Amino acid sequence: MNYYLVAPAKSFHQSENLLTYESETTLKIGQIVEIPFGKQSAIGIIAEKTKQPDFETKAITRVLYETPLPKHLVKAMFWLVDYYRCPLSSVVTAILPRGITKSRRSAPNELENTLYSSESQNPLSAEQKRVISEIEANAANTVLLHGITGSGKTNIYIELAKRQLASGKSVILLVPEIALTSQLVQNFQHFFKDVILLHSEQTESIRHQLWQKSLEATAPQVIIGPRSALFAPVKDLGLIIIDEAHEPAYHQDQNPKYSALRLASQMSKTVLGTATPLIADYYICQQHKAVVSLDELAIKSNKTTSISVIDFKNRTSFTRSRIVSNELIASIQQSLDNHQQSLIFHNRRGTAPLTICDQCGWQALCEKCLLPLVLHADKYQLRCHTCGASYPVPTSCPECGNASIHHKGFGTKLIEEELTKLFPRAKIGRFDADTATDQQLNKVYSEVKSGAYDILIGTQMLAKGFDFPKLSTLGVIQADAGLNLPDFSSEERTYQLLTQVIGRANRGHQNSRIFIQTFQPEQNIIKYATSGKYQDFYTYLLEKRQLAKLPPYTFLLKLSLSYKTEKATVANAQKLFRVIRQTIQSEGLNQLFVTPPMPAFHEHERSGYTWQIVIKAKSRKDLTTIFDQLPKSSYLHYDFDPYTLL
Ligand code: ADP
Ligand code: ZN
Ligand code: ZN
Repeated sequence: MNYYLVAPAKSFHQSENLLTYESETTLKIGQIVEIPFGKQSAIGIIAEKTKQPDFETKAITRVLYETPLPKHLVKAMFWLVDYYRCPLSSVVTAILPRGITKSRRSAPNELENTLYSSESQNPLSAEQKRVISEIEANAANTVLLHGITGSGKTNIYIELAKRQLASGKSVILLVPEIALTSQLVQNFQHFFKDVILLHSEQTESIRHQLWQKSLEATAPQVIIGPRSALFAPVKDLGLIIIDEAHEPAYHQDQNPKYSALRLASQMSKTVLGTATPLIADYYICQQHKAVVSLDELAIKSNKTTSISVIDFKNRTSFTRSRIVSNELIASIQQSLDNHQQSLIFHNRRGTAPLTICDQCGWQALCEKCLLPLVLHADKYQLRCHTCGASYPVPTSCPECGNASIHHKGFGTKLIEEELTKLFPRAKIGRFDADTATDQQLNKVYSEVKSGAYDILIGTQMLAKGFDFPKLSTLGVIQADAGLNLPDFSSEERTYQLLTQVIGRANRGHQNSRIFIQTFQPEQNIIKYATSGKYQDFYTYLLEKRQLAKLPPYTFLLKLSLSYKTEKATVANAQKLFRVIRQTIQSEGLNQLFVTPPMPAFHEHERSGYTWQIVIKAKSRKDLTTIFDQLPKSSYLHYDFDPYTLL
């Protein structure tokens, strides 16, 4: 008889352990099996061979696939449990396709794979060749490709993938969300035969078949998909490419919670491509001498781009509209006259009430963390959501004495109303779904391309990947909006967003004019984004992070407690805080810092009240050590390495 430790896709009374089963036949590590599980059955992955235990074991019911999962996935499973303390069952569930026990009828030619012939790609430029050899020669496991928008990263990805395939290895390309029309996906499909494309709108059946195809393939493959494409069961994985590697979409914030960037690095050589690297990624890669830069446009252009920063406090610029400046209005008019397009961007994520003086631009910041404070109207207090400090609400501006201090923001609807009044004959479109489906995205994309809109108003989504051929005016309504979110990542996100938006107009199709409206033109982030100087931005923010003991100088663990009533939440949060302090003392973990319990940014939601405690550590290991000692319950949620503390 053989004995195996199996990782089940279900948990039993909150227990998340490997379970021992027996089998007459010899099985392979990574094989997917069905096991009896309590009174039911479950699917599991063979994790280890083991000796006969001193208790009775049940027999494995059946083997679902002869072919085992590749070794790197079994390793990834253990790594996710160890590094993020993900529940084992949630990891197994994520690795396996849904409906895995169902038999699928259709033949492979019904699959959505497109068969293009491999035509020649653009010949590599000298710069692109340099980057490729630098990446290939780099000994580090993760290489950061810091390339400006339009520098030709696609061509580099294709060449790298081509070389992997030639040496018999598979490649996974991760994209933040799949607009099927995206140039990158199209280029890959054009160049490689039989790309396996995974996306959110595929049916369970299609996904299962694509998964099966990947599991049973004998030739190396190219897989394209969102973060979960890392779980494609490809053999001989040679390279993972992560495009737009700064995107929050690469963090999964439900169980299993993980960063696709970190997981990828555990699985194979990884290339992170982005114009705006997260400073923590840049910092780590720089320490490993693994940053490769590409600072030139692939296609030199003689088109010009002008950038004007407009001070929101200068009311002479806002005589025609309260929120659209006279300069921007004139430019939109000029674009209309020339039959060109205008894009008006508004950061909806920045809807936190901003406490700001409309005369001098003074803003309420935490003295310790230098981050914006949030108004809690119930207690009439300003509170820092990073360290928990609270401040009185000033009745007049501490800088200039102005008596009117604002706590307000505005949305895209208001912008649309204003522009409709100003340009009654223009075709105006508004697109502000932050979580648009692929279909919606593709529709807007082709509408924009065909010139269906003169003026398009939009949020985050429009900043990404869209190429507007007739764009000549770009307006950002309130560039500092995102800066008002009380979070350590707000400045970084705002910089990225502005850089990406500016990149839309910077593609060299037309001469274009960019208008950045802001309450805080003197704000460093606004300056760095408009001048395009990543290094200045990086140095500035790194210093702030060091002062505030934030990543990359520390690792974070966010603990959240949610109960029905505020009273229960506060009491339990305080209790947990005491346990943490005691544990730190008794374990001698004196390199840990704990913030006292404080309300979460979204404190009161339908499900109840949420408070949070943040633990910072110099060593990542200390975080798992303390976490393991804490009492667990279904009221406690935890995030290792959260990218936001909101
Ligand atoms: P990125 O992804 O870095 O923003 P892209 O890969 O989209 O940039 O490239 C920008 C433009 O440059 C595209 O239109 C692409 O076809 C073109 N391009 C890239 N490399 C070359 C090359 N070697 N020769 C000619 N055109 C190129
Ligand atoms: Zn003031
Ligand atoms: Zn603070």
